Amino acid sequence: MKRKINIQLVVLTVLAISATLVMIVGIFYELFRNEMLGNLKAYTHLLSESGIFEQEDYDFKIAEEELRITLINEDGKVYYDSRVDATQMDNHANRPEVIKALKNGEGSDIRYSTTLAESTFYYALKLDNGTILRVAQESKSIWSIFESAFPAIGIFTVVVFGICIVIAHFMTKSLVAPIEQLAENIESCDSISAYKELVPFINTIQKQHEDIMKGAKMRQEFTANVSHELKTPLTAISGYAELIESGMASNEDVRHFATEIHRNSNRLLALINDIIQLSELDTIEVEVSFAPVELYQVAASCVEMLQVTAQQNDVKLILQGMPARINANRVMIEEVIVNLCDNAIRYNNKGGKVEVTVTSTQEEVILSIKDTGIGISEENQQRIFERFYRVDRSRSKSSGGTGLGLAIVKHIVVKHHAYMEVTSELGKGTEIKVIFKNIEV
Ligand code: ADP
Repeated sequence: MKRKINIQLVVLTVLAISATLVMIVGIFYELFRNEMLGNLKAYTHLLSESGIFEQEDYDFKIAEEELRITLINEDGKVYYDSRVDATQMDNHANRPEVIKALKNGEGSDIRYSTTLAESTFYYALKLDNGTILRVAQESKSIWSIFESAFPAIGIFTVVVFGICIVIAHFMTKSLVAPIEQLAENIESCDSISAYKELVPFINTIQKQHEDIMKGAKMRQEFTANVSHELKTPLTAISGYAELIESGMASNEDVRHFATEIHRNSNRLLALINDIIQLSELDTIEVEVSFAPVELYQVAASCVEMLQVTAQQNDVKLILQGMPARINANRVMIEEVIVNLCDNAIRYNNKGGKVEVTVTSTQEEVILSIKDTGIGISEENQQRIFERFYRVDRSRSKSSGGTGLGLAIVKHIVVKHHAYMEVTSELGKGTEIKVIFKNIEV
């Protein structure tokens, strides 16, 4: 990249120098040409006004070394030339300056001679007696001017070119340096002295890097946890199956082992289901369809479904509140209610109570699941939504928990642009509120 920028800057410099030189030479020559023609014109008019050419014979000499004076008849015959014998000269009727002078009274032309590397400037004027007075002057051509200036131009170009290469080198270095520093040590970019315009770019890259690292760490932890969680029931299943296979277990034991195998298989299934669900929720591309959902009705069907579990745990499960509509995915909302109620039942005390309430305000619809259970300490309230985090590992496992229920709930709530509030006191109970936007507004 550095090399490329360097080369581009150098090429740009060469182009700029060349274009400037060509332009300067061009402008200079144009000015010079106009000056030459202006002088010739002034001189010709001066000569014509002197009356010298009104004499009968043209036997006179004009002492002029630089200028060449020619007198031409109306039909192009040369009468006089200050440098060459006029009788030797061919007819000049076809010369552009003569043609113009015969037609308009005056005319000019510049002719380039390759052999002499010179340009000749001509100015022709039609005198009162019809004769054409032509004055000519040789001058170096634009190319020979350029050629003579070439050493100076060459030295100038090389010096400017050298300076530009050095500047291009340092410019490229200072431009690329922050990016190189960033590539070398992306974590501590604070020390990078970058251009003001590069700061947002560096911040974005750093933020993205942090997110990627955080995501990678989370995935790593999750994979390790999953492997561990799957290993425990699988080891149990394999162990019981081996005992049955060996034929050493009594009939009574076989029954017990089969129950254990069944229990552990269910646990595995629950785990796998939760993992699949979480990974689906993690996939951003999966489009979730939302529609108006009657929250009270959904809560009622979930409560009805969970009544058996509540009774088994000797917990009273009741629903109260009012109809309220939210924009949601019905299946996902069912998942939220079932998970929260299931926790409220499992982490409850015998003879406890779970109240599911749906209320709404002007702006919000609130789903509250309140239990009279064991409660959650303040420090644990921050962590219960983490994957596989359990306050009491053995109680969770023995009641069929996977440690993923609240992580799934949190994901779904975020997808619904809703939020949660946890209020809990150890030994007294827990209330978890999910607060949705009211679509009836
Ligand atoms: P689990 O499958 O273990 O229940 P969750 O993700 O649903 O996993 O919950 C995480 C942890 O939060 C649980 O292990 C439990 O310790 C705690 N918890 C969740 N809900 C309640 C509740 N209503 N009362 C007390 N503790 C709870």
